[in-house]
Amino acid sequence: MKVSVIGAGTMGNGIAHVFAMKGFEVNLVDVSQQQIDKALATISKNLDRQIAKNSMTEDEKRSTLSRIKTFNVVGDGVKDSDLIVEAATENVDLKLMIFSQLDGAAKPEAILASNTSSISITKIGAATKRPDKVIGMHFMNPVPVMKLVEVIRGYATSDETAKTVMDFSKKLDKVPVEVNDYPGFVANRILMPMINEAIYTLYEGVAGVEEIDTVMKLGMAHPMGPLQLADFIGLDVCLAILKVLYNGMGNQKYAPCPLLVNMVTAGHLGVKSGNGFYKYTAGSKDLIVADRFKK
Ligand code: NAD
Repeated sequence: MKVSVIGAGTMGNGIAHVFAMKGFEVNLVDVSQQQIDKALATISKNLDRQIAKNSMTEDEKRSTLSRIKTFNVVGDGVKDSDLIVEAATENVDLKLMIFSQLDGAAKPEAILASNTSSISITKIGAATKRPDKVIGMHFMNPVPVMKLVEVIRGYATSDETAKTVMDFSKKLDKVPVEVNDYPGFVANRILMPMINEAIYTLYEGVAGVEEIDTVMKLGMAHPMGPLQLADFIGLDVCLAILKVLYNGMGNQKYAPCPLLVNMVTAGHLGVKSGNGFYKYTAGSKDLIVADRFKK
């Protein structure tokens, strides 16, 4: 079984890692060679972590890496694959363009899956001549660690495609959960309003950053508070998903908090930009509230 992963960013490197580790031949495709180089370095570092935890040997690491081949052009990297998982930038026009390319280049029987957090699978399927073989395969970050795969059935996805993708996910030792294609699916439909409400709680001065996160961590046994989680996901990503929910449902309850909009406009995107609700310095694991939110 051969798999292609389109996009070698945060998610793409993790998806390539788990498929290769489980014995699949993986073609990793990205338009940016820099991203591919970074992805291979990240995979190698994450495999070293597994070796340090005694869950992998040096030999297994070598064979895992040897199963990953890299490409810069979609057409070259997908022609022999049985399953293609797209994990490129979350932009609807880009995804429609990529799926139309995949449809032209992949074998007619290949399944085309998207790791999108929020874009309609039905819409992506409609950009191809095989909407029955288009499906959502929504891995969670970090992919090698998180067990869930949210398997999203578009309006036209066939039973056979859904079953094959559920089986593929189980072969990765993941737990697939099948859901239908409505805005935000299940994971983000529930998570993003909670994060948005935490931001409103801060915006309205009900409590500070640390207080809000501590209430949710100690009171609800969440491993990470909602504001820290928003920083980890990326505030731009959170805003984009909230807009999909707001536009897709037409309901005021999904309206993004103006504080979130301001932070994204100002380039305060969370961990990836070094500042969000907390501030981040390379090499430090301390959680320090951003100056702006200090009391
Ligand atoms: P990212 O920005 O880290 O990586 C995206 C990659 O796509 C980049 O390396 C970019 O060069 C590449 N790319 C752009 N256009 C391309 C093209 N035409 N062909 C091939 N590669 C192309 O993004 P990410 O965080 O890895 O997110 C990828 C997808 O996964 C998105 O749909 C996102 O919504 C979803 N997702 C993200 C997370 C998360 O926590 N980051 C979690 C679940 C799902």
